[in-house]
Amino acid sequence: MEYRDKYDVVIVGAGPGGLRCAEVLGASGKNVLIIEKNEMIGPKICAGGLTRKAISYLHNIGMPEDIIENTFDGIVFRKGGMRTRINFGSIFLYTINRKNLGQWQLGKLHDMKNVAVSSGTMVTKITKEHVIIGKSQKIQYDFLVGADGSNSIVRRFLGIPTKRLGVAYQYIMPLSKKFSDIEIIFESNLFHAWYAWIFPYAKTLSIGTGYFPKIMPAEKSKKKFMKWLDKEKISIENVPMEAHPINCDYRGHHFGNVFLAGDAAGATSGFSGEGIYQALIFGGEIAQIILNPQHKSKKISEVLREKRIHEAMLLFLILSGPFRNCIFYLVVSAVRIPWCGRILLRIMS
Ligand SMILES: Cc1cc2nc3c(=O)[nH]c(=O)nc-3n(C[C@H](O)[C@H](O)[C@H](O)COP(=O)(O)OP(=O)(O)OC[C@H]3O[C@@H](n4cnc5c(N)ncnc54)[C@H](O)[C@@H]3O)c2cc1C
Repeated sequence: MEYRDKYDVVIVGAGPGGLRCAEVLGASGKNVLIIEKNEMIGPKICAGGLTRKAISYLHNIGMPEDIIENTFDGIVFRKGGMRTRINFGSIFLYTINRKNLGQWQLGKLHDMKNVAVSSGTMVTKITKEHVIIGKSQKIQYDFLVGADGSNSIVRRFLGIPTKRLGVAYQYIMPLSKKFSDIEIIFESNLFHAWYAWIFPYAKTLSIGTGYFPKIMPAEKSKKKFMKWLDKEKISIENVPMEAHPINCDYRGHHFGNVFLAGDAAGATSGFSGEGIYQALIFGGEIAQIILNPQHKSKKISEVLREKRIHEAMLLFLILSGPFRNCIFYLVVSAVRIPWCGRILLRIMS
């Protein structure tokens, strides 16, 4: 690909955050280069679960229906033998296809002559004025956006540490009649302060969990998850494990002419693991700030307010130690009362 020597904005990473940022900047006429290390834009290790607010945001920016894999008017919470289904009364949760989401977002850039997309290209170094791709090709920028996920090279260039890092992993298996709802399984002895999930898609389902390496080593988490799968009689024979870090260590998103969006900023919720919505919001709002430096982003403030509540809940669960299982029992029992269920959903989504 032929590059200019200089772009108004260089975006590293073509996930939901980077692509949304490129779309908003592209529509305003800025010269934008978005660089993605993978050849194919879209696929990402992710359970693809979205709440109504995220879908409504995507609908507002024209999302076609084929990105949605499955819809849910309820959710099942489980603890031990206890199982509670909260009925929403209308569709409230969705699973989406990450490849289709990425390809649709990419398609929106096709007619923008001022936006160049370079896939299969790795950013290997960053300086105050340039990004370096491959061995030594230098590209100058006025603004740089790090939308490059949980192992962000842009974040490292800024010298921002990442201390609160989780890892989530999943198995994608054929859809089974046994699971038609989204299920969240709390079990302190197995998943500590986190949970296991079952997310059905159109033809497959994601079964997974996560852990914080500082609290539980990878091997221990996997051993406990296997134990749970065995108990559930779920076979993962010949199904590859997919794992990826989740950065929830937010320390700012605006650093002079450099910005961080989505997972690179640590915008993801450490409590629920939800990060697609946050990435879209950060991407779009960072573009607005670049276009108008006076722009005060209410949407980012809202996301951060929710994130603070989530992090406080997570900390409470971590610190509750031997009482955690009792708390989970209480939660799964209490959500049978409609207003309690609504509060929990409000917190989780
Ligand atoms: C197992 C798992 C399950 C999850 N489930 C959910 C869920 O159900 N719902 C939800 O909302 N969120 C979920 N998440 C979180 C969600 O996947 C992320 O929060 C979201 O993808 C963040 O979007 P992003 O645009 O910030 O970064 P990403 O989607 O990670 O995109 C970053 C892009 O940058 C590229 N890149 C990185 N480094 C470079 C480089 N040096 N040069 C060029 N390109 C680079 C990467 O290839 C990638 O395409 C899950 C995460 C995991 C791991």
